[in-house]
Amino acid sequence: MVEEVKKQGLRADVSQGKYRTIIGLIGDESQISFDRIAMLPGVKDATMIEAPYKLVNREYSKYLEKDGEFLHIKAGGIEIGGDEPIFIAGPCAVESKEVLFKIAEGVKKAGAQVLRGGIFKPRSSVHSFQGLGSKSQQDAAEALGWLRDAGKQYELATVTEVRGEDQVDIAAEYADIIQIGARNMYNQDLLTKVARKHKPVLFKRHFGAGIEEMLSFAEYIVAEGNKDVILCERGILPIGKGKSYTRYTLDLAAIPVIQKETYLPVISDPSHSSGRRDLIFSMSCASMAAGASGLMIEAHTNPAEALVDAQQAVTPDELKGIIETCQKIFKLVSHRRDEKG
Ligand code: PEP
Ligand code: MN
Repeated sequence: MVEEVKKQGLRADVSQGKYRTIIGLIGDESQISFDRIAMLPGVKDATMIEAPYKLVNREYSKYLEKDGEFLHIKAGGIEIGGDEPIFIAGPCAVESKEVLFKIAEGVKKAGAQVLRGGIFKPRSSVHSFQGLGSKSQQDAAEALGWLRDAGKQYELATVTEVRGEDQVDIAAEYADIIQIGARNMYNQDLLTKVARKHKPVLFKRHFGAGIEEMLSFAEYIVAEGNKDVILCERGILPIGKGKSYTRYTLDLAAIPVIQKETYLPVISDPSHSSGRRDLIFSMSCASMAAGASGLMIEAHTNPAEALVDAQQAVTPDELKGIIETCQKIFKLVSHRRDEKG
């Protein structure tokens, strides 16, 4: 069947289940006759998935997973999309070894399972701090080494963002999860390069992207044979005067909508979406109630001194309160997560 697909100029995504194998077609299948494919030996059924995102579509997964379930993604000893909510926390940017280790200790005590920290920061101004890795590979390796070591010491998985293709190799060498930031959601070549590392990818929604677009671009990662994609709602552009109150608008409804469309787990980022420390608790609770599989929260032991996004960082103590409450909400709504529709 794979040979047949190749003959037609397409690629095949092969998912081997216990009892059957599903082959997804990658490429322009407009000329393909599904009736003919259905007649080929060994083929039980051939169906066309209408949505532009096929490989991440729930329709495609229903043969592989239990209905309503999410893909369980394993990264650095933890599981995302399973029975426990996942809390990713840490500074916006890695600032120094000392501060990072203090924060790692704090977020671990607060109950987080993943340590975040940007080494390559996407910034609106070239005059702002660009992240410790921006100047040289050597600096990047040093800062990434701290992230890895802090993760090891406090038994936390790690995630860091890549801004460009040149940063992918080194980030994949040190971190358990590679983050695609909102600004790069549309960067096909970066997505493909990251996908080929075969490490879990934290994929953030662009602030101007619709849900269909978001899933269509996540498809670029999955099309490389890497299904370990964690989707992240991080807020869309606010309208009118909204911007004077919150940084973006957290699209809460997107969380259950995306989870109905795809089997990939969805997490929420209350930090970048609100941009306000005093809103993180509420927006975290709201995200969990909406059915998120986890949260990514910026945390700092001394928020006032944070080099980037100081206004939205919570302390480890505040994080602890958020996580405790969110774990309860996750349990309260979890029976609904398994229901279809
Ligand atoms: C981040 O998570 O560090 C970040 C820059 O977020 P976003 O890409 O959503 O703006
Ligand atoms: Mn930030």
